[in-house]
Amino acid sequence: MLERTGDAGAASAADCDVLVVGAGFAGLYMLHALRGMGFRVRVLEAGSGIGGTWFWNRYPGARCDVESMEYSYQFSPELQQDWAWSERYATQPEILRYIEHVAARFDLMRDIALDTPVRAAHFDEAAALWRLETATGRQLSARFCVMATGCLSSPNTPQLATGFDAMTGALSKIDVRGRGGLTLAAKWVEGPRTYLGLQIAGFPNLFTVTGPGSPSVLTNMLPSIEQHVAWIAACIDHLRERALKTIEAAPAAEAAWVEHVNAVAGGTLYPHCSSWYLGANVPGKPRVFMPYIGFPPYVAKCEEVVARGYEGFVLAA
Ligand SMILES: Cc1cc2nc3c(=O)[nH]c(=O)nc-3n(C[C@H](O)[C@H](O)[C@H](O)COP(=O)(O)OP(=O)(O)OC[C@H]3O[C@@H](n4cnc5c(N)ncnc54)[C@H](O)[C@@H]3O)c2cc1C
Repeated sequence: MLERTGDAGAASAADCDVLVVGAGFAGLYMLHALRGMGFRVRVLEAGSGIGGTWFWNRYPGARCDVESMEYSYQFSPELQQDWAWSERYATQPEILRYIEHVAARFDLMRDIALDTPVRAAHFDEAAALWRLETATGRQLSARFCVMATGCLSSPNTPQLATGFDAMTGALSKIDVRGRGGLTLAAKWVEGPRTYLGLQIAGFPNLFTVTGPGSPSVLTNMLPSIEQHVAWIAACIDHLRERALKTIEAAPAAEAAWVEHVNAVAGGTLYPHCSSWYLGANVPGKPRVFMPYIGFPPYVAKCEEVVARGYEGFVLAA
């Protein structure tokens, strides 16, 4: 579909337009949103089923702590009408049934590869393509890569507080390399650095859904996921419409955003507690306050950035 703007060479060399890693709430909606815009999308999921958090966590009593009417997708009024929650705070089996209903309703499964853990994601600068490799050695390429790998999807043997290597754990298990072979591990050696929790300087066309530096785990996550997915889909469409090949966070914008995230957190008690928000439950993990505090100002900032022509990002043909 990128061909529409005359970008036939690179696009036809790729397996699809967008590769999405993870088939939880984020990856599923990413697929639906981009497919609706005419992009060719493949979702790669490590698990043998979809649902992410609600597929993996089946302990007795597991349920959401947000009212189910609010912990469900808002993007389709029809979907909202045709699903009725049986309880105010749904249990894990019911949330998983809901996710499977969504996948069936929007015919998502045909573009999802299950049992497909992604091992590596390397940016090929010459071709301006992301090249992904799965655990079985299968190789796939696309102009864009969306990491919908989840904030609480990477298990951690509990010694301190919670059993997850939160926010960065799943990403750190993938060998991600950007420009000049820069590894994400090296880039984040002193803690995660992003612009808006959406992109990382040095890693063009790579997006994170509810990444560090966005409100993510401090919010009801469904609205946060939907906001990120909508922003990313509109951004990719923006590039297609203008025949642009890459978008990348500018280092200065990223540095300013990291400073701002820390300044906002500094006005609260959060950074002074030994919590998983700081990575304090994972031995050796740098202690950096990862989420951005304040969903409404965050959304306003994302909208302002777009209104100013993707301020803080470098767009190139
Ligand atoms: C027990 C529990 C309860 C929760 N309760 C709430 C709640 O009440 N309210 C709330 O707002 N949030 C809650 N959360 C947070 C929850 O994670 C989010 O609400 C939401 O489900 C996240 O969706 P996601 O798609 O971003 O990530 P996930 O659901 O985590 O999905 C990510 C997917 O990516 C896949 N993946 C990761 N790495 C790879 C790889 N290398 N290759 C291929 N696939 C990969 C994973 O297998 C997973 O399926 C809870 C989390 C947990 C763990």
